Amino acid sequence: MRRFFIEQSKITSTKIFITGSDAAHIKKVLRMKSGDRIGLFDGRGFEYEARIENLLAGSVEVSITKCFLSALESPVQIIVAQALLKDKKIDILVRQFTEIGITKLIPFTSIRSVPRPDKKRLSARKKRWRKIAIEALKQCRRSHIIELCETITFNDIIKTYDECDLKIVFWENESKPVGDAVQQVHDRHCRKILAVLGPEGGFSEKEIEDARACGFVTASLGPRILRAETAAVAASTILQYLFGDMGLKKS
Ligand code: SAH
Repeated sequence: MRRFFIEQSKITSTKIFITGSDAAHIKKVLRMKSGDRIGLFDGRGFEYEARIENLLAGSVEVSITKCFLSALESPVQIIVAQALLKDKKIDILVRQFTEIGITKLIPFTSIRSVPRPDKKRLSARKKRWRKIAIEALKQCRRSHIIELCETITFNDIIKTYDECDLKIVFWENESKPVGDAVQQVHDRHCRKILAVLGPEGGFSEKEIEDARACGFVTASLGPRILRAETAAVAASTILQYLFGDMGLKKS
């Protein structure tokens, strides 16, 4: 089935209009007719099956008959809040997070984070990360671009993200294994997770206290101290295994 990209904002009801070069392509090159079926995807992980209703002058009217999450997208949204790291470590993480199926990356600064880039630098970095993310998509065949947020502070993260089923800080001084820390949500419906990972210098006790007060659980990644960039990959993988699509098929 032919697939076309459609902006998610255009999908406001089951009847939608394909415009521009795609409309011309459908009519003039593919010579499709009313009743023919096409596929649509929105770049955000949703796929649609649709039927052509009308071939109009500047557009093609289609009706959506089926909507489903791309088979390559995890059923759980995993948002990783990652403290800024030295050198180009986040560049590599953007690629790895894309492959692991992370939905969103929120870079942040915290008490012990070393890099303090100014706005201009941050914006250049974000552009570079987007490029890396798109490259990574091609390689892993995913259709969902990892959302790259502006850099905020640790405080913003713990105070503003309220609507998650699980909010978890991976803390180097915690002894509770991640499996135990997530017990409370394990058997429940878990659709959205926020995982927070610290900078090379780790978290302060006060930061952990504040996070707990905001409803975060803290978890260990085992008895060894991992490098920040290793911890980020390990934590994302474990969460995707426990709640998403890296583990056994859910019955
Ligand atoms: N400088 C600190 C280590 C920081 S590691 C120290 O020597 O104690 C950087 C980040 O990786 C941590 O803030 C945490 O988010 C994560 N991390 C590393 N090892 C971890 C572990 N064993 N358990 C949980 N998180 C860990």
